[in-house]
Amino acid sequence: MPKIISSDPYEAEFGVRPVRGVSLFVREFVIDLITAHAEEGYLKNKEVMGLLTGDILRDDMGMYVKVTNTATSDLDADEASVRFSKDSIEKLFRSIDDCGGSSIVGWYHSHLGIGCYLSDVDIKTHTGIFGMDVGYALVIDPAGSELASFSCIGGLPEKVSMIILT
Ligand SMILES: [Zn+2]
Repeated sequence: MPKIISSDPYEAEFGVRPVRGVSLFVREFVIDLITAHAEEGYLKNKEVMGLLTGDILRDDMGMYVKVTNTATSDLDADEASVRFSKDSIEKLFRSIDDCGGSSIVGWYHSHLGIGCYLSDVDIKTHTGIFGMDVGYALVIDPAGSELASFSCIGGLPEKVSMIILT
């Protein structure tokens, strides 16, 4: 079972990042998965969510993250909210196990036509999973074809740069 990202540098493997000054790298395949999931929800007028799995690495600039896959499960959702349904946790753990990444490094969810930001509820969800520490949130709005990435250190959302790796 992958563990949740922490800022403990001893857990991070050494490897030079693809682009200096950026801490979040996402496989194109992951963007495709998130986009397809968000579009599927959009057709049903529902938000969707899932977890981002991948690897934590470090180089001379510090720690950075490569997102390599997603995990999700059954959701309770409508057009303005989403959460994992109560009896979906076992399925979620299986999905995480199938991902192959070493850590849960973030989560994603969709907004329907309201743009990409972290709401107060989103911040609560984020800190509920990742605490006040590292961990990334991707927000996708299929209505506006928008995608944005955030960190939320200390519970304060901040837009961060993301590089998509082909
Ligand atoms: Zn939201």
